[in-house]
Amino acid sequence: METEKVVAFEMKAEIVKQMLQQPRFNLDEAVNTFCKISCNAHAIVDIDMEPLGTGLYPVLSIINHSCLPNAVLVFEGKLAVLRALLPVGKGDEVLISYIDLCQTTRDRWDDLNAKYHFICSCRRCCKFDKIDDQILDALRCKHGKCDGFLVDKQGFYSRDLKLECSKCGHVRTSEAEKRAKKKLEPLLDRAGSYLDNLNYEGALSTYKKIEAATLDLFHPSSLSVMLVRKLLTKLHMETGDIQAALECCRLITPVRERLLQRNDPVLGRHYYLRGKLEGVKGDKEDGRDYLIRARDILEITHGTNFPLVTELLHCERILGHLGQGTSGRP
Ligand SMILES: [Zn+2]
Ligand SMILES: [Zn+2]
Repeated sequence: METEKVVAFEMKAEIVKQMLQQPRFNLDEAVNTFCKISCNAHAIVDIDMEPLGTGLYPVLSIINHSCLPNAVLVFEGKLAVLRALLPVGKGDEVLISYIDLCQTTRDRWDDLNAKYHFICSCRRCCKFDKIDDQILDALRCKHGKCDGFLVDKQGFYSRDLKLECSKCGHVRTSEAEKRAKKKLEPLLDRAGSYLDNLNYEGALSTYKKIEAATLDLFHPSSLSVMLVRKLLTKLHMETGDIQAALECCRLITPVRERLLQRNDPVLGRHYYLRGKLEGVKGDKEDGRDYLIRARDILEITHGTNFPLVTELLHCERILGHLGQGTSGRP
């Protein structure tokens, strides 16, 4: 574990010692416990992978990570439930993902290394297409009139990147990359303060500018663009423009599908939103189809009694295309 983290745990242990005023308090043991918790605790997340807290589940902490998991850990309040995503054969190792899988390979490695101190060597990490993966955070070249994108053709895991245009061969350093990204910071700060003050109209107009600026900097299929659109979808809904929310949501679907396995609950949640928006403002048939796709996933990952699954059935019925208890698939 990195020295800074251990130092932080030593400081925490010292605070706990002073608060408890127990003469037999063992400082080393407390630091050791903090280290164990940090490596073994599970982030308790909601269905959108938004963190709700941290829990220590000793039995579950023996399950290893994969970026192509065959199981998922879902939370019902504080209760952690392990569910299979795929058929698990006798002797197969049960694997879950410790992290958000909507990230580039390099960012997944950074995330795992920072939180759990290992570099993943799962099938997805070993077999990824480097150039294809880098599109997810590729900057536009902008050398002269070039419309290519910059990718790191050498040292993939080096942070001292030399980015090269896949079209014209122009090279930019990681410093230039940082400078380009810095241009977004004032807009993000402004949008953040609008959100803090629940000023959704202000946040919406700022995020529209951020979307334009992000598209000017990054590949349209990049994660940066997708994350801005995810927020824009929410803000359009918050301000009552369902048509604009649907248009934003439609643009997110291919990026989610590219990054996530067929049964991933995050994809199920996305299909649910897409289905509802299509049902209200778009194509009713598409709406029904996305709701069924969402139910097919969420019944596996969260079970048939999960409130969202019940709600999905209700929405499907409202669309008037399904009889109760049938899958409705053509
Ligand atoms: Zn992996
Ligand atoms: Zn170029």
